[in-house]
Amino acid sequence: MIELVPVRRARMEVRLQAAASGENSAHVVEVHHSTHVRQMWWRFDTAGRPLLAPHTANFAAVAALPWAMAHAADLHVRGVLDRTFLENLEDLVDVWVRWRPDLFQRIRIDADDVAEGRPSGSNEAVLMFSGGVDATFALAAHMEGLLGHRSRPVSAGLLVQGFDVPLHDDGWWSIARHHAQRLLAAFGVPLWTCTTNWREFSVDWEMSFGMGIAAVLHQCEASIGLGLWAADESYDHEIIPWGSNSIVAPLLGSPSLPVRAEGGGYDRDEKIGYLAHHEAVRRHLRVCWRRPPNGLNCGRCEKCVRTLVSLWAAGYERCEAFEMPLTALTAARIRIGNQVQHDLLANALSRHASRLPRSVVIALRYHLARFRLLKKISMGRL
Ligand SMILES: [Zn+2]
Repeated sequence: MIELVPVRRARMEVRLQAAASGENSAHVVEVHHSTHVRQMWWRFDTAGRPLLAPHTANFAAVAALPWAMAHAADLHVRGVLDRTFLENLEDLVDVWVRWRPDLFQRIRIDADDVAEGRPSGSNEAVLMFSGGVDATFALAAHMEGLLGHRSRPVSAGLLVQGFDVPLHDDGWWSIARHHAQRLLAAFGVPLWTCTTNWREFSVDWEMSFGMGIAAVLHQCEASIGLGLWAADESYDHEIIPWGSNSIVAPLLGSPSLPVRAEGGGYDRDEKIGYLAHHEAVRRHLRVCWRRPPNGLNCGRCEKCVRTLVSLWAAGYERCEAFEMPLTALTAARIRIGNQVQHDLLANALSRHASRLPRSVVIALRYHLARFRLLKKISMGRL
């Protein structure tokens, strides 16, 4: 039965508690729910460039949305929301209730004031920048005109502490920042940083990270004209449900700040092939989830080996960013953990087997076949 008018639902209220603009701008949002009050906060370093204060509370609304849906609490924003953005958020609620009813409940969203949005007038774009393959490809694609009329000069790459890099891991943060800065510098783009505790409110990171990214970008709405981040998958291999894909990404923009998830027209192997000729990429790319001594890439895990396959095929058998080159031994020791990893490796291998050492190809094909066999067994087909 469709619930048209919910009766006596819990309420969550978000209030902009403090804000500071300038080159070290910061925003604090209080989340009031039942008798509890918690704070979300963001601190920016925009490399000497003053960041204007946002003129809407759009960022606070999208930041609190997963938390409100998870608590089945209607969301009220103390401030102004763009009408179009509010409608987009309502669509997002519908999306997530259909995709993950175990996590998210249908709620209503409202604000003190709902107004027609206005563009900032700026032509500048800011790109969320992790220093990995997808983000670096989005950077290069824009700066080198690969995207045709969609290409825009990127004014800054924005790296976040508190997303992939843990909030209190300053050692890892320092390394990630260093390499991101080097990659961006190769394209003449400055690094901006943001530190935030938002992940505490994400409910399920893999489902909601797009909302966390949008919350960061919308805090720049008065200073830039376009918010960018990298698409995780190509359009023919999109994942549903997932925090960023071609269904949810368009719903995260507003008239004040359009956003785009960039790079869906290319798969990961193609992206690496495109980037490989950049020396900075071969020295500073960061794809590995382990923490090897060089702070970059172990060269041994499945993701590293898969990346090295594409780099080798592009003509680079040894890359400084990886502790180990691709060998039959490292290829023999990987573990393929899921279907996405299987498909990405199978795709790269189908294209490049003739360019790789035969011993490497045999080892990788063994792991692909083993993954498929184990999957069949687990599904009871054998
Ligand atoms: Zn690795």
